[in-house]
Amino acid sequence: MPASSAASAVLAGLDGIRAEQEELYRSVHQHPELSHQEHRTAAAVTDVLQKAGFQVETEVGGTGVVGVLTNGDGPSVLLRADMDALPVREETGLPYASTATSGDVAVMHACGHDVHVACLLGAARLFAAARDAWSGTLTVLFQPAEETGDGARGMIDDGLAKMVPGVDVALAQHVMAFPAGRVGTHPGPVLSAADSMRITVHGRGAHGSMPQAAVDPVVLAAMIVVRLQTVVAREVPPTETAVLTVGSIQAGTKSNVIPDSAQLQLNLRTYNDSTRETMLGAIRRIVTAECQASGSPREPEFELFDRFPLTDNDTATTQRVATAFTEFFGDHAEAIEQQSASEDFSDIPRALGVPYTYWCIGGIDPDVYRRAQEAGRVTQDIPVNHSATFAPVLQPTLTTGTQALVVAALAWLAR
Ligand code: ZN
Ligand code: ZN
Repeated sequence: MPASSAASAVLAGLDGIRAEQEELYRSVHQHPELSHQEHRTAAAVTDVLQKAGFQVETEVGGTGVVGVLTNGDGPSVLLRADMDALPVREETGLPYASTATSGDVAVMHACGHDVHVACLLGAARLFAAARDAWSGTLTVLFQPAEETGDGARGMIDDGLAKMVPGVDVALAQHVMAFPAGRVGTHPGPVLSAADSMRITVHGRGAHGSMPQAAVDPVVLAAMIVVRLQTVVAREVPPTETAVLTVGSIQAGTKSNVIPDSAQLQLNLRTYNDSTRETMLGAIRRIVTAECQASGSPREPEFELFDRFPLTDNDTATTQRVATAFTEFFGDHAEAIEQQSASEDFSDIPRALGVPYTYWCIGGIDPDVYRRAQEAGRVTQDIPVNHSATFAPVLQPTLTTGTQALVVAALAWLAR
């Protein structure tokens, strides 16, 4: 069976599950859970997968869920969705808006991971109900804690590779602020790697009137900030894109006290592992040398946190998915630009040693988007991910996201 007729066969069941899929979406949206706390969501996922006949592993890396459906010989495809929400107070005005809190923090599915969960569960049910149309193994992976960048790694550390032997390819998608009904692919680096770094530099405190008795960490930190501006300008090739931001600098309490240390917080974005290593090395070198230049009494301390890997779509894999999308979606399939956001999905295929691709689906009402575009007000009027007013339109977003997962997986699994 060619992939297109396999897609028709698998997607034939979509009308029959649509109402339940929308209901599940609204329920997940109304009950968002912060990173590592996705218990209710994981239970809902487990329930659907078990009923559909998947072999299910729960509590993988905390709240992660893995479902495996074996259907004869053939390739093995892994589809991934993330499940966590954000500490954002929802202001969408939707009838199913979240009023959930965690402690005294309001919680919202402001990144659309509820869309990812609903679409992947829909696709899982469709594959389970249409086993004649495909052959191979389908793994559906529901990951916790994407927003904190450590959910994928948690599942890997908990033995994910042993639960999903023989995976050939890993696929994932994200809903974004472009017109619903559209899908976008991009070969090569599509999302940046991100690193945050906390640096503590040491001086020697003294009275503000006696600088000769001090090693002033404020001046030292200021020198470091200025010198760090040369990293992207002078050490990264002009053909590369990179960002180095010093987002925080803290020292001292009072005008006439020279403090004994200063702390800087940096954020880095890179699209290339070698650029990332170049920048991390340059930062250490500059900070260490500036400390030495100031006569700092102790070595500086470096701490990396909130690290996200580079999402670097495999070219052949992306081409295979893009071809399947064009065949199915026609001119609603498009090529998209590199995005500046970051994701931890690629930790999974990297740990399994398999190629991957990560695509985007639109989530904005096409009419609303067109009007904003005509008025030249897309940036002002269309809420983006992580904003309190980010509200993916239910349809065609859920249908498109489900179709995209099915069509992409069938590029390997079609009988
Ligand atoms: Zn996000
Ligand atoms: Zn997200």
